[in-house]
Amino acid sequence: AFDTAAFWLRTNKFLMNTGIPFMPTIIKKAKGIRLYDVNDKILFDCSSGQMSSLLGHSHPEIVEVVKKSVSELDHLSSLMVSEPVVDFAEKLAQILPAPLEKSFLLNTGSESVEAAIKMAKCATGKFEIVAFSAAYHGMTQGAVSATYSHGRKWAGPLMPGQIAFPFPNSYRSRFRKPDGSYDWEAELEMGWALVDSQSVGSLAAFIFEPIMSAGGIFEPPEGYMKRMSIECKKRGMLLIADEAQTGLGRCGDMFAFQRDGIVPDILALSKTIGCGLPVASVSTSADIEKLALKGGYLWVTTHYNDPLAAAIASKVIDIVVRDNLVAHAAARGRQLREGLQRLQDKYWCIGDIRGRGLLLGMEIISDPVTRAPGFDIGKALSGKALELGLACQCGASSGTCVVFRMAPPITISAKEINQTLNILEQSFAFVFP
Ligand code: PMP
Repeated sequence: AFDTAAFWLRTNKFLMNTGIPFMPTIIKKAKGIRLYDVNDKILFDCSSGQMSSLLGHSHPEIVEVVKKSVSELDHLSSLMVSEPVVDFAEKLAQILPAPLEKSFLLNTGSESVEAAIKMAKCATGKFEIVAFSAAYHGMTQGAVSATYSHGRKWAGPLMPGQIAFPFPNSYRSRFRKPDGSYDWEAELEMGWALVDSQSVGSLAAFIFEPIMSAGGIFEPPEGYMKRMSIECKKRGMLLIADEAQTGLGRCGDMFAFQRDGIVPDILALSKTIGCGLPVASVSTSADIEKLALKGGYLWVTTHYNDPLAAAIASKVIDIVVRDNLVAHAAARGRQLREGLQRLQDKYWCIGDIRGRGLLLGMEIISDPVTRAPGFDIGKALSGKALELGLACQCGASSGTCVVFRMAPPITISAKEINQTLNILEQSFAFVFP
């Protein structure tokens, strides 16, 4: 039998503590949506690893392409380009709306945000970066400067010129009227007034996630991003979409910004495009590429444009397109949302259900009148769910609300959605007998 006590002793002795608590479950194998713990117990992975394993763990075709790439062409000098990399860039251009057509590869989300911000600064010759006030964009210095969560603490001095934009909090905004309607336009105007009053006249870009995931699954109302894009244009700012979690079909569109009828100037992809492996990319238009190159060279890192990363990303795109997974994610997302809504009808502690496609959030409250966050209830529910075989993350990086984040692999079947809902149902029945 597995020696759990010895495992945690060794963990605590040798693995550096970075302040993030580990879940109690120890996983030894992952396949598809299933995680297998050291005692062979099966859990459904409703967070796709860290929102990354878009097609499930160890998808056979991804395994195959990694093996092939590692044995034939693994890594090259940053000064050499290879066919898999160009194939990837062309493939990505085919699924992107014009004028986004030029891309390069990196490894992590933080890195892609860092590169996107640098591009925006070079292209505009300005340096101020505006981001939503509950955004999470990564841990490197540029990315964490545009991040408004616990990770920001002690990271200072941050990059100069960071401005927080009040995010559209559809659940708690003061711009919600007693009749339930939400005057987001007034809130947005107030946000820009705040930006304009703080700016030193060097606004470079607005960076956003189409659905703020780590922040608590907050989705701007329809029309909101269109207005944001107009306001950015007015000020000569670029729009950077960070689709780390939302890209490649998860939200029921190939890219989540497409719902809003906008095209960002720069698009950062990561997480989902590597299907659990370290792959990221940045895309832009030929015009912005030209502007960004004014200052000489823009980017080069050891694993930039690696053929291995390119082969993986190309395969992910192929599978998403071939298997019609965008429509599948939309349909399964509707099924999951309906199930969550049935739960909401039964349990007052579910204050709100948000998100779209297979990136859904269920907010847990401790008081239906004040909507106070249900920290203890969330802990009890997610603990019970884990015990019953459902791994999902419950919390929010801002620490101000408690949200179950449901982001299973988009290959999930209708039956697996029902099983997931069943476990949730049992968890609620246990906590509220
Ligand atoms: N952007 C978003 C929207 C993210 O969710 C994350 C990761 N949670 C990042 C950037 C940073 O990615 P990474 O952790 O791969 O550096």
